[in-house]
Amino acid sequence: MANTQRAIAPMLRLPAAPDEKPYLVGYRCPECNATYIGGNRVGCSKCTFVGDLPEVRLSDHGTLYVYSIVHQSAPGIPVPYVSAIVDLPEGVSVRCNLVDIEPDPQKIEFGMPVDMVTRKVRERKEKNAHGDEETIDIIAFFFRPRKDEGS
Ligand SMILES: [Zn+2]
Repeated sequence: MANTQRAIAPMLRLPAAPDEKPYLVGYRCPECNATYIGGNRVGCSKCTFVGDLPEVRLSDHGTLYVYSIVHQSAPGIPVPYVSAIVDLPEGVSVRCNLVDIEPDPQKIEFGMPVDMVTRKVRERKEKNAHGDEETIDIIAFFFRPRKDEGS
């Protein structure tokens, strides 16, 4: 039986249906359509709307806004890796790591198209409601350079 999957952050949704892709969610102001990432907002900071902002599904692709190559990190985290901010078409920016790319400034272009991917980053043992131990796969999202069509 497959392990239970759990998203590493509430903004990442893992649909139960196997043919549905994971996606990120944001929150959109019903008055001015400004879109935000991250919950717990009590209103819109671009207009005067106060109240719950309805959830919206965000695109699974964007463009690379800025990045840095990280050479030192917490113990156990392989370095170097590429930390980035990706702009999504909805006008929000998401902080993430780039994968499937060499951590080499000559190979990374600002504005390059990137696609979201999800990967298991670790697993955790938990007791379920029946008291049985089960393994939970922790799933995180990353972005990677867009592959050319057909490759
Ligand atoms: Zn607004």
